[in-house]
Amino acid sequence: MSEAIYIGIDGGATTSKIAAVRDNGTIVSMDLQQQPTGSEGGPEGVIAGWMDGTARFLERNGLTWEQVAGIGVSVPGPYLAYGVMGDSPNLPDTFTGWHVLDDLGEAAEKRCGRKLPMVMGNDGNFAGVAEAARVRASGGGSVVLLAPGSGLGGAYVDAKGLPLEGATISGMEVGHMPAPLQMLGAKPYRCGCGRDWGCFEMYTSLAGLPYLFEDALDRYPDHPLAKKEGTPKERILPLRGLAQEGDELALELFDFQARAMGFLIGTLAMAVDPDVFVVGGGLIDPEATSPEFRERYLGIMREVARDYVWPVQKERLKVVEAALGELSQAIGAALVVLYQEQEK
Ligand SMILES: [Zn+2]
Repeated sequence: MSEAIYIGIDGGATTSKIAAVRDNGTIVSMDLQQQPTGSEGGPEGVIAGWMDGTARFLERNGLTWEQVAGIGVSVPGPYLAYGVMGDSPNLPDTFTGWHVLDDLGEAAEKRCGRKLPMVMGNDGNFAGVAEAARVRASGGGSVVLLAPGSGLGGAYVDAKGLPLEGATISGMEVGHMPAPLQMLGAKPYRCGCGRDWGCFEMYTSLAGLPYLFEDALDRYPDHPLAKKEGTPKERILPLRGLAQEGDELALELFDFQARAMGFLIGTLAMAVDPDVFVVGGGLIDPEATSPEFRERYLGIMREVARDYVWPVQKERLKVVEAALGELSQAIGAALVVLYQEQEK
């Protein structure tokens, strides 16, 4: 019989990506395959899109439905229960209460002619699983993934490769823990989640960057972006590029975010004491930032965190760049269904 493979579907609010791993955990292809999620077509449309996308992925890689031994799917939280979507801020109301795994299982059975093992989880946890598998392959153990993007995703993955999910699949929502504002000299910005205690997400990701930028303009009244028109998000868009050119204001903001990340790393070292911290997100994207910039960003995190961890942790504190980019969630979803089958 030909080799078994496990499909991973990363179902984002706007785009979905597909990847797969083999029985031994190796990745079938690192070519990015993505497509619109098509949420305007409702849950049915999304499932049909995922199935067509999977068929395309199989064909492109010379594989068949017969080889598919399981499917993992990553969808944005919150969830009502395992496999059931809650009220997601980025999706139409028709998705609330949607039983993703039932519908996906049924659709996959039609293609394969048999029932397939399925898992569902959140994108941050699955990204952590994939990055942790890579770290473990080079001798690592437990991993914390921190991914500042539009918000701040986080995951803790144990030495066996599985994510901490918690009693309500809300574990490791580190972006919404409070940052030490007095250490950062920062104001308590209200977070999109509604909390007003100064969520880390506001000081480390795009979510809070417009506020930091507005406050910083007081110190840089002649900055070229001071007169730029547009929404707060549009105005901050050039900052990452400007930082690569050495722009002082931009560097100051990202240095600040790096310090906030350092405090978060120090805090998490107290809570879960992982072997390695992996940092993902737009500021370590090799296509958008220089090696010097990335080293500066991670260097500040290490420096800040080192002052707050135990001596024994200080010596072995590892903060490294994520490497799987946009495919990490899909690869992680595939790995979790593979691990689940291996346990049986
Ligand atoms: Zn929050």
